[in-house]
Amino acid sequence: MKIEVVEKNETNLRLIISGVDVPLMNALRRMALAEVPSMAIDEVVMIENSSILQDEVIAHRLGLTPLKTDLDGYNLPEDCSCQSEFGCNLCRVTLTLDAESKEGTRTVYSGELVSENPEIMPVSDRVPIIKLAKGQKLKLEAYARLGKGKNHAKWQPVSMCVYKYFPKIQITSKTCENCTKCVDICPKNVLAMKENKVNVRDLLACNLCMDCVEACPQKPKGIKIEWKKNAFILNIESTGVLPPERILQEATKILDKQLKEFEEQVKVENK
Ligand SMILES: [Zn+2]
Repeated sequence: MKIEVVEKNETNLRLIISGVDVPLMNALRRMALAEVPSMAIDEVVMIENSSILQDEVIAHRLGLTPLKTDLDGYNLPEDCSCQSEFGCNLCRVTLTLDAESKEGTRTVYSGELVSENPEIMPVSDRVPIIKLAKGQKLKLEAYARLGKGKNHAKWQPVSMCVYKYFPKIQITSKTCENCTKCVDICPKNVLAMKENKVNVRDLLACNLCMDCVEACPQKPKGIKIEWKKNAFILNIESTGVLPPERILQEATKILDKQLKEFEEQVKVENK
């Protein structure tokens, strides 16, 4: 297996992975979506709400606000030694909000949430939670905990996790008359003219839609699109709760753990 990093920043990771197959790529994708834990608000105690939104709607909005996650400092409630319904300081973080509009209408943003652990804060302080008119108040206590995307989408650490086959584009100089039809039709601008010849400008952008092949008036076609059977482009976009490379590392760890459990079960069955 060979991994090449194409792009890496705070929220995005793009890799070319070769020497693997679809089942492995798909397993990793599903682990990232459904099994890698992240922090989200799961319970809200309303102390005062004189706004026009119902308590449930506000709680839902708070739940969907991405929170910076500390996977090493906190336990999943089901794995925590406290086994308490209310949680302990190893499996729960309390955030409070005390907002009021004294003059005119104002928007309350996620940045006004005060966390007992400064590490567990909203990823962005500009997520609008509610609008308050003059004299309206919102006071609440929210409890965040680790959870998994398979139980609720608010715990998904990724906003996108996809893979595609690695494309292979072949332009046959014998049949291609450089009519530029394929260049014009490509929605991803993969092709470009260079010295009056069709050229591949951005191979990785190709999504194998085949529009260029259809647009080619030549017979046989002057352009051929294929894909490598064992190479993929993997894109991970984090919601900001965890760095994307950490999400991938956790996904591989969880897959490994699940396979080991499976192996153990098979051994037991054989006895
Ligand atoms: Zn606990």
